[in-house]
Amino acid sequence: MSDIYDCIIVGAGPAGLGAALYTSRDRMKTLMLEKFMPGGQIINTDRIENYPGIERIDGAGLIMQMQKQVESFGAEIKTGCEVTNLEKEPDGKIAVHCDKDKYTARVVILTPGSDYRKLGVPGEEEFRNAGAGVSYCGTCDAPFFKGKQVVAVGGGNTAVEETLHLTKFAEKVTMIHRRDAFRAAKVLVEELLQKANESNSNLIIKYDTIATAIQGEGKAQSVKLKNVKTNEEEDYPCDGVFIFIGMVPNTGFLKGFVDLTDNGFIKCDCAYLRTTVPGVFVAGDCRIGAAMQLATAVGDGVVAAMMLKQYFRDPKWWNEPVSDLLQPGGW
Ligand SMILES: Cc1cc2nc3c(=O)[nH]c(=O)nc-3n(C[C@H](O)[C@H](O)[C@H](O)COP(=O)(O)OP(=O)(O)OC[C@H]3O[C@@H](n4cnc5c(N)ncnc54)[C@H](O)[C@@H]3O)c2cc1C
Repeated sequence: MSDIYDCIIVGAGPAGLGAALYTSRDRMKTLMLEKFMPGGQIINTDRIENYPGIERIDGAGLIMQMQKQVESFGAEIKTGCEVTNLEKEPDGKIAVHCDKDKYTARVVILTPGSDYRKLGVPGEEEFRNAGAGVSYCGTCDAPFFKGKQVVAVGGGNTAVEETLHLTKFAEKVTMIHRRDAFRAAKVLVEELLQKANESNSNLIIKYDTIATAIQGEGKAQSVKLKNVKTNEEEDYPCDGVFIFIGMVPNTGFLKGFVDLTDNGFIKCDCAYLRTTVPGVFVAGDCRIGAAMQLATAVGDGVVAAMMLKQYFRDPKWWNEPVSDLLQPGGW
């Protein structure tokens, strides 16, 4: 018979490592199951400047410290272990399957993260790093493009917000959108258009336009743009390309086990991070309402690890509604 863990964490990115720090330091028998190696998305960047308390660090360096810390408290990390499905056992415990292996826990925290939706054009993968010119996060990387020329791709709320953010740093921002109107909220679009219409604005909007390639020597130097109505093409010089076309959560393996949104994000109450399955919490970029940041993913992991003690004390708590005190105006 295999060991029963107090807590199994699916994914060893920032959310999983944040959770494991708290569960293992609380002397809970903790197992992390990670399909690749610890780190998640943040391992792809060599510059983090928005993690509190650390002026500047690369993703790999930060993750190495986080991993060392959780292991020092006894958390076990199994790498190369892709979770393929989960099931609730008759006694309320949760079985987690990786290939032919099965692990059992009293509580599971799901932290499989998300991936940025890709444009899928030549050059995107080659320059996929803010230092080389391709980024998917304006909040993370805009300061690295101070005084430079960037192209932003997208048309939804995040695209508009992130593009406006970029205008505070870049010398020139060209936003391209494949349609002739934005689908973002009206209030955001108004703000965007107002910015573009200012005299000497550093924001240019190109409608009906797509990027078909990112080009350069060693780093991005131009984008090939195509007008989808006229089919006209141009090589558009720039120092960076920001791609804001959405996120794809890594939750395919959870279909039928927990409730997901139409886009695949894990449904939960955003106060305690309980999913629709008792004993299964969620944390990080894979959940509805996630802020998609390193610090918030870690914070989510900590919240889930704190709340699981409440579930251990009283399993019936799972079905209690979120306290009115946590509703707007409730305090
Ligand atoms: C290039 C880049 C730069 C970034 N820079 C910044 C920055 O400067 N500041 C900032 O705040 N944020 C930044 N971010 C965003 C930040 O990395 C994410 O918000 C954060 O990593 C989310 O953490 P997470 O643990 O929720 O998910 P992830 O980081 O996605 O980790 C999920 C983990 O789960 C594993 N996994 C997935 N499915 C399974 C499965 N079935 N079985 C087992 N394991 C599984 C994955 O392999 C991965 O290791 C950046 C992101 C990228 C891509």
